[in-house]
Amino acid sequence: MKALSRHRPKWISRRVALAAVVLAAMALPAQASFERGLEKTLGKQARDAIESQYDVVKKGPAAEYVERIGKTLVEVSPRHDIEYTFKILDTEQINAFALPWGYVYVTTGMLEFVDSSDQLAGVLGHEIAHVAQKHSLDAFKQQFWASLLFGVIDAPATLLTVGQVGTTLYLLRHSRKDEQEADGLGAGYSYAAGYDPSQLSAFLRKLDEEHGRKPSTIEVYLSTHPTGERRQQRLAELPEVNRKNADVATHVAHAFLARHLANQAVVEYRRVIELAPDRAEAHAGLARAYAKLGEPEPAQQAWQRAEELGLRDQEELPDLPTASAPPVVPPSAAEEQQVEQARAAAERWHSQVKEPVREIGNRAKSLENSVQGLARRMSMTGALGSPTLAGERVMEKAQFTLYMIAETSDRVAAVGEGLQAKGDGAAEVVQTIARDSAAPATTVDRAQWTALSAEVAAGIAGAETQAGGIRQQALQAADLADKAASQLSSAVSSLPSAMNVFGAIDRSFAFLGLAEGEVDEALRNAHSALELSGKAMAALRRWRAQELSWRLSAAYLDTPPAHRRALCSMAGAMTGADPDALAGAEGGFGAGLVHAVTAAAESQESPPGNETSKPAEAREAEQNRQADLMLKLVLADVRREAEARRQWQGSAASPPAAVEKPAPAQEAN
Ligand SMILES: [Zn+2]
Repeated sequence: MKALSRHRPKWISRRVALAAVVLAAMALPAQASFERGLEKTLGKQARDAIESQYDVVKKGPAAEYVERIGKTLVEVSPRHDIEYTFKILDTEQINAFALPWGYVYVTTGMLEFVDSSDQLAGVLGHEIAHVAQKHSLDAFKQQFWASLLFGVIDAPATLLTVGQVGTTLYLLRHSRKDEQEADGLGAGYSYAAGYDPSQLSAFLRKLDEEHGRKPSTIEVYLSTHPTGERRQQRLAELPEVNRKNADVATHVAHAFLARHLANQAVVEYRRVIELAPDRAEAHAGLARAYAKLGEPEPAQQAWQRAEELGLRDQEELPDLPTASAPPVVPPSAAEEQQVEQARAAAERWHSQVKEPVREIGNRAKSLENSVQGLARRMSMTGALGSPTLAGERVMEKAQFTLYMIAETSDRVAAVGEGLQAKGDGAAEVVQTIARDSAAPATTVDRAQWTALSAEVAAGIAGAETQAGGIRQQALQAADLADKAASQLSSAVSSLPSAMNVFGAIDRSFAFLGLAEGEVDEALRNAHSALELSGKAMAALRRWRAQELSWRLSAAYLDTPPAHRRALCSMAGAMTGADPDALAGAEGGFGAGLVHAVTAAAESQESPPGNETSKPAEAREAEQNRQADLMLKLVLADVRREAEARRQWQGSAASPPAAVEKPAPAQEAN
């Protein structure tokens, strides 16, 4: 569907002016200032084209977070003569790209796809490297000179080509050499800025898997970026990724600790100590990481070892928690019953949601088929040419109608997938509750687990009603879109005959009038279909915030009590929320985080005197989306922390083979 033109781009009228600048600049290729002019013009033009085609997520927690990571990477990159900007494009496509003059974009699809902030940093680092090395600019110049040189295009066409190349710069495929360079440099920036550069490889592995599973969402990224084993292999050979080098591992460990990722820091410091057992700095770092986690004994031991190895005097032992472990109690019958209720509700919801999901999926598929058929037919009709202005106008309307039907089809499909994900998500949360609340825990924990399971059970009960409404809206939208598609189809069939009646202008107009009437009707229906599917999507999003809150709370409760402060610090550092407030939030950690992030998203909307026309509903959806994206990023990092914790606790406490089931939450000892 990406081939469809969405709106008439605003930039067309600027083509000629641009071409003049380009030609002037390229006439004097040696002049740095002219090259700057060219880069700036190309970049800005491409930026305008992109931003007229996609919704740009402007301010808000996720936008700020992406910008913060981006700017950290820019700081350690070599190019500072331009101001980089980092923006989020609202599309399901998993993509990232950079334009000349420092315009870097990631899609919401990409933010949902990455497994950690480190992966996001790897992706951004790669794009920043393209800008720093002026890869797009060079590619553009080459293409431009080549087309002039070989006389492929004549003068008027040249002007057009310049405009087109400028606006499709983001689709430009870089040479293999440039891609390799961007990988290497990008990994270097990630490393220098304190991110784990090996995560770019993990990202690529995941991308390969996704390609097998759902190729359409990464089509564009893959068309502009090489993938596969060779790229991963090459990445693995970079010096910054070599954890067998104790200096590299130490640097990465320090960086994890600075970002409050204490569990990952523990794993990394231990790696250093395996490589270089006498490195005092690593033992001291390990002590700090343990202290952050609230593990006084191992912290003390590591610190002592560091001192034995000649740790410098001026360093101090970090504050260690002294609180004795609270008494541990087994779950009561009432608590077990509560959990059982949540489990039953999740199971019921899961089985209930299957049928509508299949139904919606089928409708989405048939819609997708009609969209494809229609698009083919329209491109043939368009190729016949439109001898009259009126014909062109009708075709344009028809294109727009098709776009809306396609968009509806996408949304209907997304609603189906969303419902499915909600079903799976709820089941997963309940599983975590059932597993971890069955283990003995402190009274405080027990109370929190029980509260969470009650909340989940109630949430699922509410969702059952909501799901009925969502299903109905999605199916109605599909019906309407179907209707619009068949109207459009019949209108389009009559267009060629209308357009080809030369000499009989009057008759041609009469035909066109008929066709236009039909297109208008289809357009109205497509409008309503799109609106309905939007409502279904909005309902799903509201439910998603709740589910995210549960997932975060479950992850928090899954963390040993002593480690929870560190988790709050990490989440606070990512979102700007107050870590103390998160620890004691009413409704738990997840609810506190959702509240903090949503409030931040709300406070940033509505710039004064600007865009007052945006309806409240759309604004709310945008805020929710912002909060959502940010929370998913936090959840991804929380999960990586949990993985790291299991890794170091497992290797310390039990034989290495026992990794099947994650260790139950251990009490602070
Ligand atoms: Zn690239």
